[in-house]
Amino acid sequence: MTDTAPPPADSADAVFGAVSALCSDRGIAVARQDSPEASFLAVELKGATRGWRLFVHCRDDTLSLPTVFLAAPRGLLPHVGYSGGVCVNDGQGLSIDPDRREDIAAHTLLAAYELLERWSADEQVCRTEFLNELEGYWVGLPRAAHGQAFFEVDSKDRLISAYEDSRRNPPAWFFAERGARPREFDVAKLQALRALYVHLDELPGIPVHPEQLTHKFVDQVRGALSPAQKDLWRELVGPSKNGVRASALLVSVPRQAGGRSLVGVAFAAYKGEVDQRVPVMPLTARRRTSNHMRERGGASLQLSGKRVAVLGCGAVGSVVADTLAAAGVGQLTLVDADIYSEDNVFRHVLDPAYIGLPKTWGLKHQLERQYPGLTVDAVEVAAQTWLPRTSLADFDGIVLAFGAPSIERSFARAFRSQEHELPVVFTWLEALDLGGHSVLMWTHKPGCLDCLYRDDGGAPALHPRTSFLEANQHVTRNLTGCASVFVPYGALQARKTGLLAAEQMLEALYGSTIQRAYGYWVGNGIQAKAQGLHTTPWWTNAATTFSAIATERVFGRPCKRCRSET
Ligand SMILES: [Zn+2]
Repeated sequence: MTDTAPPPADSADAVFGAVSALCSDRGIAVARQDSPEASFLAVELKGATRGWRLFVHCRDDTLSLPTVFLAAPRGLLPHVGYSGGVCVNDGQGLSIDPDRREDIAAHTLLAAYELLERWSADEQVCRTEFLNELEGYWVGLPRAAHGQAFFEVDSKDRLISAYEDSRRNPPAWFFAERGARPREFDVAKLQALRALYVHLDELPGIPVHPEQLTHKFVDQVRGALSPAQKDLWRELVGPSKNGVRASALLVSVPRQAGGRSLVGVAFAAYKGEVDQRVPVMPLTARRRTSNHMRERGGASLQLSGKRVAVLGCGAVGSVVADTLAAAGVGQLTLVDADIYSEDNVFRHVLDPAYIGLPKTWGLKHQLERQYPGLTVDAVEVAAQTWLPRTSLADFDGIVLAFGAPSIERSFARAFRSQEHELPVVFTWLEALDLGGHSVLMWTHKPGCLDCLYRDDGGAPALHPRTSFLEANQHVTRNLTGCASVFVPYGALQARKTGLLAAEQMLEALYGSTIQRAYGYWVGNGIQAKAQGLHTTPWWTNAATTFSAIATERVFGRPCKRCRSET
């Protein structure tokens, strides 16, 4: 112990002490420099080919990493913004001890140094990685305007439309296919500008600090266009009766890391040329396309070509439909003859605005809005009517969510008699908070819904062996008389059961080789107990039984419906 007080933990001195210690461990020469601001420490670290003059923020009290800047001149470096900010870490998976700010600042600074050394070691690698991060760089250009791209960034050169909403501050830009009317912005109230989208292998004329984006950038891009792209360019800027015409040019370049980077510029055209009297403005655009949102949101592009029918669109069926759509299934056929009513609201996914309308119709409108690229066929008839006039060959899977396994047995038999092989999931829940079930079968593989109706000796039974509730108990309730009888359960029960069914269907759609499965969840049964309901031994055991063992028990007995053919 010494009697001199240590420097305050948040000061540049303390951070420099930590930086010096790290540098000495790693054999890096470091020199402290004057910092224009007391809250920043300025240092120069010696690299393999050059010195790196870096600034690190020392009094950052946020729960993220402190900011590091690289002093000019910088050139174009990946992960370094136009203004010098170094993107050290995307912040994912970080755990920060706020009592060690000086160590955190020192580590961040050294991490920035290592990043810069790594990327600058090879010119080609450096350029490639810079283009991977091009959109991030473009966002940082002075006066950059932000927008949304409603067109697919697909390398197909074409004229598109640009809309500037200057009532918003800062002005918002929208880019869409010509003639398209995305409902996310008011096309009718905005002036459509002509815009051009082209794809290039390389982007010329990227401004390096302190240069700004000017008409020279547009000229350089123009010089790099192919003859066909030049024709489009002439169409874009062609002479106009109205004199000066506002335009936008959007360019995508390949990203070696996958996909394409998209950047743009707004400019004015006059007599077929870029009007040099009007400043140009950098444009960036977030993707508002179905493919991008699917990929970014964790939905599968692999599933976008799949079509699933959901028979029964009540509380459970609507959760199944919603979950399949969210997971990326591209086409749903929803079959239900019911009208959405006041009684459904709290356990159904539909908005009460749809009360009085067919459930399938409401789901079509709600889900198609929510999941771009989804197509829903709303079939407002009973499943018994729909099935005989339908070819299973049009589908990749079927989910039945009527909530009545005994009725669903007749469907299971009907599917077996059809030629087409596909996965079918049956799902239902039990009264109150007992739990729910989901059974996966394939139309031509061993294992069917009738398998559940066997006793231990293999003889046909009246009740499924999966029941949680002993037979012949009164579980329905009514609030307003006999006409409103319902099985009591809540949204939680409906959702857990619907998720179980959706999970089984998704697994099959992804190509799982599982031929049959019995899935279930077991509730705590507090409400059921309070009502004096008697549960089966299976309900008691289910919570501690593995699903694979339960599946073996359910399907492990002879069944003339599904095994006579093998
Ligand atoms: Zn069977």
